[in-house]
Amino acid sequence: KPVIVTLDGPAGVGKTTLAQRVAKELGIAYLDTGAMFRTTALELGHDADKLPEGEMSERLNTLHFSLSQEEGESVLRVNKRRIGNEIRTEEVGMMASRVAVLPTVRTFLRRSQQRLGSEVSLLAEGRDMGTTVFPEATCKIFLDASAEVRAKRRFLQLQEMGHDANLKKLAQQIRERDELDRNRKVAPLRPAKDAVVVDSSEMGIDEVFQAILAAVHA
Ligand code: C5P
Repeated sequence: KPVIVTLDGPAGVGKTTLAQRVAKELGIAYLDTGAMFRTTALELGHDADKLPEGEMSERLNTLHFSLSQEEGESVLRVNKRRIGNEIRTEEVGMMASRVAVLPTVRTFLRRSQQRLGSEVSLLAEGRDMGTTVFPEATCKIFLDASAEVRAKRRFLQLQEMGHDANLKKLAQQIRERDELDRNRKVAPLRPAKDAVVVDSSEMGIDEVFQAILAAVHA
């Protein structure tokens, strides 16, 4: 039976960087479920929430996600196309948050995620991995940090990727996205009852990395 480690938390908390590192350390695949929501949002377009149910399902069912290991990296594909940095802007993040409240989208992606998790051991990163998608996970971690710290981290990360970034605007967008993610009816963002909560506001990345490994090995 595959080993599943879940890593959930709000936007900009550093989940992606840590998830990749921890997965490598543990020798398991890394599943970026935020990337699945972002890709789905781009595929459905701006008026996704106005699509009739039937058409929405039809379009979702044309999306096939796959995960493979290439040169030690976990590569996520949609319909065989490698998902790249084009999904990494805060605008696409916001589009993702909007489709993420739609039950049809969540059900479709939950099933895709569970299928991937039934095939290989993985570290699943997202918002509802511990609460909804993998309730039987081997180990659950919830990573948190203050909104200010998260805006700053996301700012630096976007700059590094060569995307335009404005710290004030980012802070505002992150707060908006948090609110959407925390208050939606289906699978809202919150720690699972049996999750280890790590507040990284005052911690360096190496410290957080060690704290996560300690939780996995506990
Ligand atoms: O983690 P990331 O910023 O890439 O996620 C983008 C958006 O996708 C989140 O703000 C959230 O609304 C949604 N999401 C979700 N459940 C997940 C992963 C992401 O609702 N498991």
